[in-house]
Amino acid sequence: MSDLHFTADWSRVRIVFGAGTVARLPAEIDALGWSRILIVTTPGRTTELGVVRAHLASRVVGLCDVAALHVPIDRVTSALAVVAQCEPDALLAVGGGSAIGLAKAIALDRHLPIVAVPTTYAGSEMTTIWGITEGARKRTGRDAAVAPPLVIYDPDLTMTLPVGVSAASGMNAIAHAVEALYAADAGPVARAAAEDGLRSLALALPVLVATPHDRDARSLALAGAHSAGTALNLAAMGLHHKICHVLGGTYGLPHAPTHAAVLPHVVAFNTPAAPEAMKRIALALGTTDASIGLAALGRALGLTMGLGALGLQAGDVDHAAEHVTASAYANPRPATTADVRALLLRAL
Ligand code: NAD
Repeated sequence: MSDLHFTADWSRVRIVFGAGTVARLPAEIDALGWSRILIVTTPGRTTELGVVRAHLASRVVGLCDVAALHVPIDRVTSALAVVAQCEPDALLAVGGGSAIGLAKAIALDRHLPIVAVPTTYAGSEMTTIWGITEGARKRTGRDAAVAPPLVIYDPDLTMTLPVGVSAASGMNAIAHAVEALYAADAGPVARAAAEDGLRSLALALPVLVATPHDRDARSLALAGAHSAGTALNLAAMGLHHKICHVLGGTYGLPHAPTHAAVLPHVVAFNTPAAPEAMKRIALALGTTDASIGLAALGRALGLTMGLGALGLQAGDVDHAAEHVTASAYANPRPATTADVRALLLRAL
């Protein structure tokens, strides 16, 4: 029995989930009273944009397709210039965490509502978390104003997501759920969402890596991502997210693949301090040991499970470990700089 304490801030959000639901965009947007839509996305999203534009027709007043990983400040500046030019009354983010992240940065500045149509498994659409990168430093925060009030999940729009991106993004979602399950501030809804996310993603990801156009697997993976994103919003993330934040922000390692490579090592480190959570994680993954199960899942999905291959140099490890422990974060087991250094060397 645990001594349960938690607080939860619920965002008001309407969720529409299911194959073909992108066709409901016009009716859903009209119902909210918006009529001038600026689409925000990453470059090259031609197929999904074609579908969305066909449905929204003259409601679309502009396109901002400059979103990039970790929301670089120069992309925010150019997006704000587009906003000034076309004067939208709502933003439509189509894509993954980068597209939704840029829309959040605009929302923070201009107080515009976001409609999110997520096409990866990152989960940003369910959170109040924003981030903006300036130089090699990513500032992050939480603000209810950036949480999308309308999210449309259409698994048909994820059919084009390449297998490698799907697998890595799925492991990013799994990392949200894992850290929510051992977060001290996670309440019963956060935990239930995390367990659901783990079960769904562990079932769906191996199927969609083998058969990328399996609609049921795509749907289950997206539902798992929704649950994992919900858990992320309701719980403080720990050592794992802190390490990935530093490796991505300071050393330029790719976001989602880094999550896959780091997670088994953080879980092994945290296991003695959170044995009950680890049992629940292992059970939801259909394995007996959480850390071993996560490493096996990553390998089965064909992911690179070493940080060296993802771009971390052995010579950077000392500085990275100091950076991780320089500021406070929540974690079930306190980690010294020496602990993080040893963990990073194991993950190299
Ligand atoms: P991403 O958004 O950069 O997408 C990865 C790649 O997939 C991009 O090239 C994109 O164009 C492409 N893509 C997206 N949908 C596609 C589709 N349907 N078909 C083909 N290609 C497609 O990466 P991501 O992993 O989704 O997001 C990572 C970013 O999100 C990071 O910056 C991370 O910090 C942030 N994030 C934020 C939160 C939050 O709550 N704020 C949560 C998770 C991640």
